[in-house]
Amino acid sequence: MQPNTYLIIILVIIATEFLVNLVVSLLDFYYKPTTQNPSIKKDYTKSKRYLRTNIKFGLLKASVDFITILVIILIGAFNTLDLFVRGFGLGPILTGILFFGILCAILFIVETPFSIYKTFRIEKKYGFNTTTKKIFLMDLLKSMAGWIIIGGIGLAIVLIFFEKIGNLAWLYCWIFLTLLQIFTMFIYPVFILPIFNKLKILTDGPLKEAIKEYLETQAINIKMDNIRIMDSSKRTNKSNAFLAGFGRNKRLVLSDTLLKNHTQDEILAIVAHEIGHLKMNHLPKKLVLYSIESFLMLYLLSLVIQSSNFFFAFGVQTTSVYIGLLLFAIIYIPIAFFFSTLTNYTSRRYEYNADKFSAETTPSKDMVSALDKLGLHNLTNPTPHPLKVFLTYSHPPIQDRIARIKG
Ligand SMILES: [Zn+2]
Repeated sequence: MQPNTYLIIILVIIATEFLVNLVVSLLDFYYKPTTQNPSIKKDYTKSKRYLRTNIKFGLLKASVDFITILVIILIGAFNTLDLFVRGFGLGPILTGILFFGILCAILFIVETPFSIYKTFRIEKKYGFNTTTKKIFLMDLLKSMAGWIIIGGIGLAIVLIFFEKIGNLAWLYCWIFLTLLQIFTMFIYPVFILPIFNKLKILTDGPLKEAIKEYLETQAINIKMDNIRIMDSSKRTNKSNAFLAGFGRNKRLVLSDTLLKNHTQDEILAIVAHEIGHLKMNHLPKKLVLYSIESFLMLYLLSLVIQSSNFFFAFGVQTTSVYIGLLLFAIIYIPIAFFFSTLTNYTSRRYEYNADKFSAETTPSKDMVSALDKLGLHNLTNPTPHPLKVFLTYSHPPIQDRIARIKG
């Protein structure tokens, strides 16, 4: 393929994702369902305002990103940066790491103001934000350190594979990335999560007794010490519950905000939902799906990385593995957006199944009132546009979940 053909395909892919996102956001913004869901009785005016603020903010950010990437491609900025890092005369691996390091630093400078605005303006205005400037800064530094260490090592290994192995490097990368993902998931609740949050053991009392009794009836062997209360309230007022890790590192995490806002029966229904995910092996199944995705992705990468015209399309004169990775990422991100509709669909189905499990093993009215409260409290959109749900929702809209439970 000629460089210009590549360039046109690349621009079409990037523009398509931007336009689809724009259209879906506008549809969601103005969406008024003709048949009102009977279970929507509550006042959702605040949710709608929160939604509109977020859509406007999202579109502004997407536009800035879109224009930035277009300008970078059209002025040939990747080539300029490449010539600069090559000037140091380091080997291909170190040059690659330096190249990505500088890019990440630039990305960080562009993205941080958006993140500050989102946390301290939007989230604050709607009463969610409890993060102090100090916590925000510490979070930023911790995740930066994590990226430098894990990202740096991961990148170095991928570059070494491509430099040394040749044709089958993508397969080695896939095995490595899959193992890395499983490993990260395994250590996440015990080593990574505690870097950001305190996870206290649930104290003795009626809630602990009720959960213990429920787990016994379901023949689930999670140690009671592995049910942890997370200090989410130091950052946000939103409530959350999730199951993380597997094997002996498995943790059932409930946010302290959840404990504050829900009754014991509702919390038990939420715990039952999480146990549903566990019983039906949703986490390992999702892992398999992700690894199929990364397999296809890396195979595609191995095809384009061999074509020098692919590099010329971006104005890059010298081909290299690291630039190949970056250029591929630029076109792959929009492709992944469409691919994620499949993973999102599966994820939504799992949520319905977990709700069903909860409703079968605890009084279904408890899950209904728990969901109702979560929806109102977290200001979720009560009536999202179906196309928006199809493309981007990993969880079904709250009202659909309630309707399903009620049958
Ligand atoms: Zn769930």
